[in-house]
Amino acid sequence: MKDLSRYQRQFLLPEIGPEGQAKISSASVAIVGLGALGSVSANLLARAGVGRLRLIDRDVVELGNLQRQVLYDETDARENFPKAAAAERKLRQINSEIVVEGEAADLNPETIEELFKGIDLVVDGTDNFETRYLINDYCLREKLPWIYGGAVAVEGLTYVILPGEGPCLRCLFEEAPRPGEFQTCDRAGILAPVAHWVASFQSIEALKILAGRKETVDRRLWKGDLWKKEFRAVDAGGAPRSGCSGCRKGEYPYLDRERGSRTVTLCGRNAVQIFSSASVPINFKNLADKLSPFGAVHYNDYLLQASVPPFEITIFLNGRAIVKGTEDASEARGVYAKYIGS
Ligand SMILES: [Zn+2]
Repeated sequence: MKDLSRYQRQFLLPEIGPEGQAKISSASVAIVGLGALGSVSANLLARAGVGRLRLIDRDVVELGNLQRQVLYDETDARENFPKAAAAERKLRQINSEIVVEGEAADLNPETIEELFKGIDLVVDGTDNFETRYLINDYCLREKLPWIYGGAVAVEGLTYVILPGEGPCLRCLFEEAPRPGEFQTCDRAGILAPVAHWVASFQSIEALKILAGRKETVDRRLWKGDLWKKEFRAVDAGGAPRSGCSGCRKGEYPYLDRERGSRTVTLCGRNAVQIFSSASVPINFKNLADKLSPFGAVHYNDYLLQASVPPFEITIFLNGRAIVKGTEDASEARGVYAKYIGS
């Protein structure tokens, strides 16, 4: 029998109780994106004793993340550690009684079935609508609750999706904003407390669902301006939108690969992500020898980084790469083909 005294302040609450705590401890949650939002949610849910956390992120820790991403430190940034691995390392120190699974991977139609296997609930910590619509499609099909969150500049937004019981993300936002239309953290900046507010709202709704208190879930779309302290809760309408092909007809275009791309321009960061179908892990030593004439190369167990001015390439074991120095997908594909080979 596990010592549950560490959760005493939590199950003292009549809202949770020992019964709710037991349910929380046997639940599995996936957190997609471990940046400003996801790192805060992961921290809160690990400390709350969620039995299994699957942490999915495709990126590495950089110095500029430390202002708001609570699970990382300067060592992680210096080592270019994948966020998923750094978060796993830190959360295991915080709570050794739960299962923490870091997945340094991209969530896409090809990987989602595997990455979401056995999951009860999904928390959104992503920074793009393509991934959110993919999560929405998957969760509608599997009838899994998921919790949308977004934060940019001084404003945050969050909403709980309970498939079959209310509007989904596509009911609220029929189409993804066009590239450049939506503010991004990289162009507009972000204050850490804004992300922490959104992630706290997401986490409390997650705890309600996990503790078996779904009837208390807040079904409104919350918008907050933390600078002005202006908060609005918008009624999402109760029933799914009549024209939503996901809720009404069971159509999942993002999951079925009719929508979405194989390259993703990364959120105003002058970088493009490229997916490869490498079937065997990349041999970093061989690749480092090949790339060293062009500029600095270093690698660890997870990834290799090479400077090939004016570009910088980060490549992961499975061939997925991030090309920095361009936002043009075809130029990035060209750089990849030239230096990595396809
Ligand atoms: Zn819908």
